[in-house]
Amino acid sequence: MAAEQAFVTLATNDSYARGAMVLGKSLRNHKTSKKLVVLIGPHVSDQSRAVLHKIYDDVRLVDVLDSGDTAHLAMMKRPDLGVTFTKLHCWTLTHYSKCVFMDADTLVVSNIDELFDREELSAAPDPGWPDCFNSGVFVFIPSNETYGRLLQFCTEHGSFDGGDQGVLNGFFSDWATADITKHLPFIYNMSSIAIYTYLPAFKHLSVHRYGANAKVVHFLGATKPWSYTYDPRQRRVRGDVAAAAHPGFLLEWWTLYSGEVVPMLMREYGDQPFCSGCEEDAGESEPVQTLMSSAERKQRWEQGQADYMGIDSFDNIQKKLDVFLK
Ligand code: UDP
Ligand code: MN
Repeated sequence: MAAEQAFVTLATNDSYARGAMVLGKSLRNHKTSKKLVVLIGPHVSDQSRAVLHKIYDDVRLVDVLDSGDTAHLAMMKRPDLGVTFTKLHCWTLTHYSKCVFMDADTLVVSNIDELFDREELSAAPDPGWPDCFNSGVFVFIPSNETYGRLLQFCTEHGSFDGGDQGVLNGFFSDWATADITKHLPFIYNMSSIAIYTYLPAFKHLSVHRYGANAKVVHFLGATKPWSYTYDPRQRRVRGDVAAAAHPGFLLEWWTLYSGEVVPMLMREYGDQPFCSGCEEDAGESEPVQTLMSSAERKQRWEQGQADYMGIDSFDNIQKKLDVFLK
């Protein structure tokens, strides 16, 4: 009997897999009682798969090209909709009675289990065209029948935006008008573009309501959280952060990623080189410098060659004094 309910996401490569790791961790940290499922593509590395297995209850390989079923046929006709077909695969999770799909570029900042009280297809309006729903977060009922009809719709009509959002809005075309209970509040899919289109409302509401009530942040658009780098010592995100829609939530994403996900990835990669996006080398100059003998340092100091910015910085001198005074 299909009784269980699950959050579902998708990652076809290692970048989106990192997003999925953070998303999964954020759901766990906010104590979801639901199962966590991630659909992965064949290009996701073994190391990423191993970490995903530790965070998710169910890691499913979906290879549309290998599947040999109707999805494969649909794919042959519409190769342009590759990732879209993979996303539609979530309807085949018939082991679950109800699911909430979440993009791998979303971050949960509050428990959202109440979404399972909603019906198919519930989603939040897209800020660019509010009579369309944004397909980054949606409630659905797995069903092979619906899946077949979706694929058929997809091959016949394509997608008006080239992605899954176009297909899903075409298929669930009465969303805008039929039933207001299927409209999720914007706080369940706070996508970034809204800031640019309605800045005063965003400022007002983020201070008075959304800031406190935000539940899901969606890093929609070309620049994803993993496109930045991060300095874990200064706890600062580097890059064009000013242009980021939610700088505070971007920092929250990185704090979770560097604190809880990177250690898991490092365990999997072992000695193999891997780039986490954290500037791990940022503070490495200190241990290297301490290799200099204290006699050498004394000599340099006496020659006026103090390393004011590094080991002989005021902070370090004060630390030393503190130790002596204790
Ligand atoms: N996705 C993926 N691999 C890709 C592109 C997309 O796995 O190469 C998945 C991932 O779950 C992602 C979702 O499809 O969150 C939708 O894509 P994206 O978030 O990039 O679109 P946006 O929200 O920016 O429109
Ligand atoms: Mn997205």
